[in-house]
Amino acid sequence: MTSIVAKLREIGKTDRRVADEVRRSLVETLFVSSTSLGMGAIAGSACSTAIALSSHDPWIASIAIAIGMTGALRVGHAVFYHKRSRGDDSTESARSETVYEIGAWVYALLLGMMTFLTLVRSDNALYHMLAGVLTIGYAAGICGRNAGRPVIAIGQLALAAAPVALGLFLSAEPLRWVLGGVTCVFVIGMVDITLQTYSAVLKAMSATQEQKRLTARFERLARYDSMTGLENRAAFQERLQNELETIGEQDEQLAVLWLDLDKFKEINDSLGHPTGDRVLCTVARQLSSIVDGRGSVARFGGDEFVLLCRGGREGFAEDMAREVMRAVIVPMDIDGAAIQVTGSIGVAVAPRDGADSDTILQHADMALYHAKSNGRNDFCPFLPAMEEEFLELRKLEAALRVAVEREELEVYYQPILDLRTGKIRSCEALLRWHHPELGMVSPARFIPLAESTGLITPISHWVLSQACTAAAKWPDDVGVAVNMSPALLKDLHLSHMILSALYTSGLQARRLELEITESVLLEENAQSNTLIREFQKIGLKLSIDDFGTGYSSLTYLKKYRFDKIKIDTSFIADVTRSREARAIIHALVGLAAELDMDIVAEGIETETQLGYVTGARCTMAQGFFVGRPMPEAIIRRRLEAQGRGEEWTGEDQSFRPALRRLQA
Ligand code: C2E
Ligand code: MG
Ligand code: MG
Repeated sequence: MTSIVAKLREIGKTDRRVADEVRRSLVETLFVSSTSLGMGAIAGSACSTAIALSSHDPWIASIAIAIGMTGALRVGHAVFYHKRSRGDDSTESARSETVYEIGAWVYALLLGMMTFLTLVRSDNALYHMLAGVLTIGYAAGICGRNAGRPVIAIGQLALAAAPVALGLFLSAEPLRWVLGGVTCVFVIGMVDITLQTYSAVLKAMSATQEQKRLTARFERLARYDSMTGLENRAAFQERLQNELETIGEQDEQLAVLWLDLDKFKEINDSLGHPTGDRVLCTVARQLSSIVDGRGSVARFGGDEFVLLCRGGREGFAEDMAREVMRAVIVPMDIDGAAIQVTGSIGVAVAPRDGADSDTILQHADMALYHAKSNGRNDFCPFLPAMEEEFLELRKLEAALRVAVEREELEVYYQPILDLRTGKIRSCEALLRWHHPELGMVSPARFIPLAESTGLITPISHWVLSQACTAAAKWPDDVGVAVNMSPALLKDLHLSHMILSALYTSGLQARRLELEITESVLLEENAQSNTLIREFQKIGLKLSIDDFGTGYSSLTYLKKYRFDKIKIDTSFIADVTRSREARAIIHALVGLAAELDMDIVAEGIETETQLGYVTGARCTMAQGFFVGRPMPEAIIRRRLEAQGRGEEWTGEDQSFRPALRRLQA
């Protein structure tokens, strides 16, 4: 008995703690079977009416009427409730439970009272049996049916059985007292069974609920980007496919705009990832408000967003792209700092540019690639020619990967002449790719490809080690120059790569020269700055390559101490025709002399050009007239000859005499 009381208390506490959904589900169990409720009502009415009619007792007749009405009301409520609110709303569910509870208790009490009156007001054993069996049977059944709400079940049990026991105890027959006692024991047993059933039901429901919650959570995680709350790639693709299936039926188009924020990595690197995340969230909000009511937006990871919108008018996709560009460029306030980003957009329109989601997305991506290579901060619609170019590039990329693995690449060396001494002071390492079918592929074509695919890192590593190993075999006073791709100058492992190349080859650091283009210096990237300073600490020489082709800002000449400026080939080619080219060369020579830097004239092809740059006091010359890029074995023989005191001979017979005349 005490353990039952303890259990009752415990259950009371547990019941208050159960989650809302679980409670609602438990309440739902009360209404699951309106049939059993109906059977209970019919049985109660039938028995009580039969006894009332046979006994002609007005009290029993009144109770029989009350039983019939209560039963009907309860069935009505259950059916009505069941139809209208399947218990999804907590308040509605609590109200229904209360109504059910009142109905259940009243009905149980009426049955108990009917049996009590039958026992005390009549002597007919058959009536007694009919009423007793009905009420006790009902009490037993109801404990099982309503165990999900134990307070209701136990209340019904007590209200039905207590008057029966009382009626039996009030009789003069000892055997009836025994039956009254047994009824009490039966009630205690049923309470225990109800509580156990409740615990089991509760456990099962809580587990189901937890599972439902987890499933919903995983489904959400699988479909949405947790940071911005936008749909992810998988969800977007599904949505796109569904939308594509419907556009055929209407005269509508579907535009996909693939947006990539320009130089977002730099925001992350310079302002930190939390700021970067806020920028992404702000962009996500802007994009959501743009497409609101017109389409949807998803985040494809990193700084890439894809918008989907419907339209019928010609040029609606381009208008949308312009709108997105205008929204993105508005400076955003992040922690009081104004941050401005720009974006590049690739646009593809269905059904014109593809009929399935994969094709449309692939085409938008290709258009994005073009938007980026056209200088970013712009949008680019997809054109069929892009696909051919893309396929060709992919073929070339695959071939380049194979070439790297099979070592089909080779490093050639082009001499750089010191115009004051007439000797070769260093050689520039230039990559060559002999493709078995395509023949010689120009580095101007495959280096950008290597940069965009990440292959530049292994390639540069290889070039560095080849160049250092080659130069280590050359005379001591000849250095080697290696071109450094801008993409590589953001990789902090670069200095390890260089140190390891120097260490394995045994080349002194002062003999290795790195050629950097202006674009790297203009970007003001923290990583590049650190790297350039590190190179200078190691003792490497630094030169600015292709000077004059970029912005030619002079501020970085002050910021870093460069050893060389290489005047771009285009100025040398124009030297005889263009007064401006000559003026620029003169100005640069003066600047280099003031800053104590060497100045190299690139692309010397003729005696006239050599004459001009010597006269202009360039300190060094590089070009086909001095020497073409050549394989390592050849350059080594020629440098060894120079080391033995032989004069360097150019590609052309006229080279040496011309140089001698110029030096005289
Ligand atoms: P660059 O660094 O400016 O290299 C000089 C380019 O001018 C070379 O072209 C060279 O062959 C060419 N050249 C030399 N003398 C003359 C001349 O008298 N007339 C003419 N018309 N051209 C001359 P190349 O070898 O085709 O390389 C093109 C560019 O590819 C290089 O320009 C460099 O930016 C890049 N590159 C080459 N090798 C590598 C490498 O190993 N790594 C990286 N990152 N870039 C490389
Ligand atoms: Mg170069
Ligand atoms: Mg150059």
